[in-house]
Amino acid sequence: MSGDNLLDVALVRLDDAARHLQIDPDVLEKLKYPRETTKVRLMIRMDDGSRKSFLAWRCRYDDTRGPTKGGIRFHPESDADEVETLAFWMTFKCAVMNLPYGGGKGAVRIDPRQLSKTELERLSRAYMQAFARIIGPDRDIPAPDVYTNSMIMGWMADEYGQIVGENSPAVITGKPIALGGSLGRDDATARGGYYLVRDLAQDLGLGLQMRVVVQGFGNAGQFIAKLLAADGHKIIAVSDSSGAVQSPAGLDVARLIAAKAEGKSVTSLIGGDVSALDPDALIGVDCDLLVPAALENMIHEKNAEQVKAKAVLELANGPVTPEGDAILAKKNIVVLPDILANAGGVTVSYFEWVQNRQGYYWPLEDVHRRLHEIMVREGRAIWQIAQEKKVSCRTAAYIHALGRRASAIESHGTQTFFNS
Ligand code: GLU
Repeated sequence: MSGDNLLDVALVRLDDAARHLQIDPDVLEKLKYPRETTKVRLMIRMDDGSRKSFLAWRCRYDDTRGPTKGGIRFHPESDADEVETLAFWMTFKCAVMNLPYGGGKGAVRIDPRQLSKTELERLSRAYMQAFARIIGPDRDIPAPDVYTNSMIMGWMADEYGQIVGENSPAVITGKPIALGGSLGRDDATARGGYYLVRDLAQDLGLGLQMRVVVQGFGNAGQFIAKLLAADGHKIIAVSDSSGAVQSPAGLDVARLIAAKAEGKSVTSLIGGDVSALDPDALIGVDCDLLVPAALENMIHEKNAEQVKAKAVLELANGPVTPEGDAILAKKNIVVLPDILANAGGVTVSYFEWVQNRQGYYWPLEDVHRRLHEIMVREGRAIWQIAQEKKVSCRTAAYIHALGRRASAIESHGTQTFFNS
């Protein structure tokens, strides 16, 4: 992002929204900085007996509305700025969905694909050992993010239980079902986005048979492709970190998912109707719905002009830069923003936490019904704000969330709030 600080760029969205509301400048000032960010160096033993160390962070950005909540990512390019920005987005995401949480995030700077399973387990346990004092079911609740999964959450939950000396499943979400995970958490990020698009399809001018392009084929990318293909939409191009493929007739999603399960790239399907595509050209493929489901800053001032979709569903966090947003708006392309579009993940995490605390587990239909209800309710409210105030859905989502935060602050009492 041309040397810009990611958090400063993210804060542009806050200022855009604040212009439409009467917000106390002190409140805004508090939102510009994370409450606390802890950095540690994790030392783990590798399988060959050597020791290696990795940088790790946990940021608790804001806890005005409840314990901080957000995933942990394992990525070779993670840094403090990225973690704080992701935690800032979580703060707003939880407020958008009206979940009783603030925002947090964590990361380890590592390429987990270079680790064996036992090394990965040692790393996950070391993370929990380092941050156990910050984390807790009423304090800070982690979850999966990029390159982390339910297995890793299970190891972390187990480690936390050993540290505090009791079973404490509500400390972390996205766990395996056997350790108190919720049904429906696995595809929740994609499913939330899918419900949103389905509900707003008419308003967005999307037809019954959409051509869909998916950038990134991890958890969110695979499940959105599966859900949309099952409704008869065509997935015409996808990419992963090794390359991109396209098929105007529609890709075979089940084969793509099977290839990923075997550790292969989507490019392993090239042949017949499936041709290779320059990954940089992916976002310019003519389609109805473009789904960025990879990392930050994928659509920006240099490539947004190429986008030909009618709408963009942000399943990744922060995939469009503010400059990218301005270009897409000029082209009348509606962006369903990350803090709404991918909030299905944290919403079912909330359901998991509730179930853990009740010790009572819901059937899958209940999870789907409740997720659908919240997605449609908050999506409609944001769509309404966007129409009334003639702003983008992103600005509308921030307005919606800021309103909720402001009333939480008021209820706390300003003295406590500003002294904390
Ligand atoms: N990592 C996901 C996100 O960015 C989920 C967070 C959670 O479930 O707490 O929204």
